[in-house]
Amino acid sequence: MPPRSQSLWPARLALAALLLALCLASLWLWRQMLVAQQERIAERVGYQARSLARQLESSLIDQVDGLRRIAQQWNHRGRIPQDEWILDSQSSLTHFKGYQAIQWLGADLRMRWIEPPQGNEAAQHFRLTPAHPNFDLAMQAKGAGEPRFSNSFALVQGGRGLILYTPLYIRDERGEPVFDGFLQGVFRVEKLMDELLTHLDSGDFSAYLLEAGRPIYAHEQADALDTLQQEVPLLLLNNQNFALRLKPSEQLVRQLTTPLPEVVLGASLTISLLLVAALALALENARRAGALQASNQRLNEQISQRQEVEQVLRESRERLQLVLDLTDSSRDGLFIIDPCSRDILHMNQATYSSLGYSAEAFGELLKHDPEQLLPGYGNWLEGVRQAQQDHLSTIFQRQMRRRDGSYQAAEISAQLVQLNGREYLIGVSRDNNERLRLEAQLQRLSQQDGLTGLYNRRFFDSQLASEWRRLRRQGAPLTLLMLDIDYFKAYNDRLGHLAGDDALRQVGEVLQGCLQREGDIACRYGGEEFAIILVDTGLEGGMHVADQVHRMIDHLDIAHPASPLGCLTLSIGLAVAEPGSGEQPDSLVAHSDRALYRAKHEGRNRTCVWHDEVR
Ligand code: GH3
Ligand code: MG
Ligand code: MG
Repeated sequence: MPPRSQSLWPARLALAALLLALCLASLWLWRQMLVAQQERIAERVGYQARSLARQLESSLIDQVDGLRRIAQQWNHRGRIPQDEWILDSQSSLTHFKGYQAIQWLGADLRMRWIEPPQGNEAAQHFRLTPAHPNFDLAMQAKGAGEPRFSNSFALVQGGRGLILYTPLYIRDERGEPVFDGFLQGVFRVEKLMDELLTHLDSGDFSAYLLEAGRPIYAHEQADALDTLQQEVPLLLLNNQNFALRLKPSEQLVRQLTTPLPEVVLGASLTISLLLVAALALALENARRAGALQASNQRLNEQISQRQEVEQVLRESRERLQLVLDLTDSSRDGLFIIDPCSRDILHMNQATYSSLGYSAEAFGELLKHDPEQLLPGYGNWLEGVRQAQQDHLSTIFQRQMRRRDGSYQAAEISAQLVQLNGREYLIGVSRDNNERLRLEAQLQRLSQQDGLTGLYNRRFFDSQLASEWRRLRRQGAPLTLLMLDIDYFKAYNDRLGHLAGDDALRQVGEVLQGCLQREGDIACRYGGEEFAIILVDTGLEGGMHVADQVHRMIDHLDIAHPASPLGCLTLSIGLAVAEPGSGEQPDSLVAHSDRALYRAKHEGRNRTCVWHDEVR
């Protein structure tokens, strides 16, 4: 869900920032611990260096203590014998290997005694002159009556050396101290320092002796570290010109180093990662819980939507069922079919039961032999399609075949509809047998004369016109007989209207009975006048019918007391026409009327034929 994950970004960024901050803090802590450790190591190295310097200083003092004792004896007892001095000197030389020599320089500053003589031959005839670098120092020692330790200088024996000048005194006869030269401890720099350092625990350092800042001796360890070197002042006896530079060995540094900063760094990075991972996990859980909640909500919404849809469906199904029930209650057949496959989508009961079929049998028959149900099915379907395209009525009068083989007139209203790319035919079929019958009856009534049962004047007119058209096409003749009862007014007057009506009915029956050919019709033209249309009939046929009418009326023998003839008779005017000759129906009527008129005039109860000369 995009909006939800977008809203998580600030939290994720905050987590990343927290992780970064924690890592930086861990690194800072590690750095601080390293610095603190470096400081502590430097402090320890400084302490060790100072301690070594103090040890070196006190060791030197201890080692030259023999000289101090010789000088004390000299000053106290007076000049000691040479052999005793040699013994004392040798004792000191044995005790401390750092000496190059122990010497007595006489008050005239010339070399007197020297021990050991071997190796110091070059100094045998030495004399301290003001040109010597140590002259002033020696004079200071002499003036102060205290030992002085010299700076380094070039030994006459070769190499650089140091000398401890201890002034010696003897008493004169008045008991006053008289300067008696110097007791000199001569040291070679390397030897002195090597000897001093061997007595000290100096393996942890590279040691350098500096004189006025310049190194004059080096005692180096292979793994010394320059970075942690320290310089401490070194007071060699009473000479402050020296300093000791110490470089700690890697081993010492390693001993002083603890893995604590790395451990702390590792631990804090791990804790930071774990903390951020836990927070990220919590965040992810919160996100999932949120997503779950949202999906549950969506699910609930979908469920309620589905329930609503189902409710709507249920209602529409119920409505549909009501509609289906309604269609089943209809006496008209209602059906929806696929016109191509002739599958039935729906049909009500009236569709099949009115024809005597079960639903299954009707469906099967429609599918496999629709002509059996609706003869001319294909034409009808095409007719519907064409009528729909032309926006004409799609109500067709058809004959449907019942199961027993009989036919049922059906008015089928059909409509083709397109739905989702498929074509359906929606139809309503109605059994209109009764209606057709009633219509026919009505039509018949509208065409009939109520008294005689013959066709009426209106039907006569239309029939004459239509037969006229038909015969014109065929080129056949048409004969019209106009008939009028003779003296009928008098008949009525004498016998009453009811008798007149009855006579009219009997005449009507006779006229009807005289017609033998299909298409011939007898009409009551009006009052006591009748007309007979004889189709495809000429003069001869017409005369034949007219004679037959006369005969049968005569045969009826209806008494007519008011007629000079004694019985009911009628007169006939006959006219023959060729409809194809350009004549009109009206003229035929007029001709036969004229002929009738002549028949009346000539004495009644006869037939007169219209000829041109009759005019
Ligand atoms: P003609 O021989 O010249 O034909 O003399 P007619 O009396 O028959 O002729 P007219 O036209 O003078 O009289 C026709 C009579 O037919 C008048 C009427 O009383 C009678 N009539 C017409 N229609 C009916 C009917 O429906 N019923 C009865 N009873 N008489 C009718
Ligand atoms: Mg008349
Ligand atoms: Mg008449």
